[in-house]
Formats: sequence, C-alpha cells, structure tokens
Amino acid sequence: MESLKSMIQTEGKVLSNEVLKVDSFLNHQIDPVLMKEMGEEFARRFEKEKITKILTIESSGIAPSLMAALKLDVPLIFARKRQSLTLTENLYTADVHSFTKGVTSKIAVAMPFIDRNDRVLIIDDFLANGQAALGLLDISRQAGAEVAGIGIVIEKAFQPGGNDLRQQGVRVESLARIQSLEDGRVVFKEEVSV
Ligand code: 5GP
Repeated sequence: MESLKSMIQTEGKVLSNEVLKVDSFLNHQIDPVLMKEMGEEFARRFEKEKITKILTIESSGIAPSLMAALKLDVPLIFARKRQSLTLTENLYTADVHSFTKGVTSKIAVAMPFIDRNDRVLIIDDFLANGQAALGLLDISRQAGAEVAGIGIVIEKAFQPGGNDLRQQGVRVESLARIQSLEDGRVVFKEEVSV
C-alpha cells in the first residue's frame, strides 16, 4: 500500500536493525485518514471470506481493526493484555511473548464474544516473530472458530513470523513488507532485486 509505505519512509524511525518506531501515525499518535484507508484495504482483501468478527490485541491493533470492522460491518474484539476487574466472564487465554518488551504476558478474550459459528479475521499492527498472531490464532481455535486469515499493517519479512504462519497454511496479508532495517534505512521487500 503506497500511502502507508511513504508514511513509513517519511515518519518511521529505525531504532535498530530489528525495530521500527512509528509513533507519529500508528503506535501513539494515530492518523485517522491512513487508518481508514488501511481498514478499507483489509476489507477489500478479505471481502469474499464471509468474516463475522475481527480479532486484534490491545492497543495498537485497535485503530486499523476498527476501520476494517466498520467497512466489513462486523464487530471488533480486542484481546486484553491486563487483568481487569470487569473482565469476569470465563476467558480464553494464551501466553504471548512480546518482541518489543521482552516479557511474556497472558492475553484474554471473554468466551461470549467468539464461538464456533464465527469466521475470524485477525489483525495486528506489526508482525515480527509471530507470537501475538499465534496467541490470537490459539484463542480463536479454543473457541472453535475458523480463522479466515491474518491482516498485518507492517510485516518485518526478515523475521520468521510471516513465513512460519504461511507454512502452517494461514493466509497472511500485509500492507507493507519490510525486507531490511539495516544501516538506519527502511527497504521494502518489493524493492530488492533478486
Ligand atoms: P511478534 O509477536 O510478531 O513477535 O511481534 C508483534 C508485536 O510486537 C506487535 O503487536 C507489536 O506491538 C510489536 N512489534 C514487533 N516489532 C515491532 C517494531 O519493529 N516496532 C513496533 N513499534 N512494534 C513492534
């Protein structure tokens, strides 16, 4: 998606060979026009899939997911990372190791919100080692739901998550795929000549 790629080039800060900071439009301040465009693009790619629910993880997955949910006219559920006194139903849970924070935490979705009749589209902001996506897949499967695919805003294709998921037969659609963050430069996958 060209508008996203040019936003990454102008606004993204390469923190290391592995980490990209996009706090000015996705992870802290949010660009609503870009979110709307991204939501529409996810909806376009999965429009034939008879999606009934979108599942993401708080907090940065929520903005693009909400726009996709609006376009597909389905509810959005975000897995909670923190214990909450109001989250009292029976829960589906999964352990997720955070690539950026280096800690493992439990994510949870209340049982009434997903069931065996659902066809779920999972969406997240970044795909690195695939831990967050695997946790959301695990929760969907515990609920007996079918997962139609995974939509990712920024896939770091030099990390193994995307390939691992595709090798498991999961459809992964990424709006921008980064080949490398070396030397402080963002290189997208399409730009690499083979
Ligand atoms: P994974 O679970 O695929 O290893 O990592 C994905 C999660 O880690 C995303 O939900 C995102 O919050 C975070 N993440 C991974 N890599 C990056 C990165 O380069 N930049 C930012 N801002 N977040 C990242």
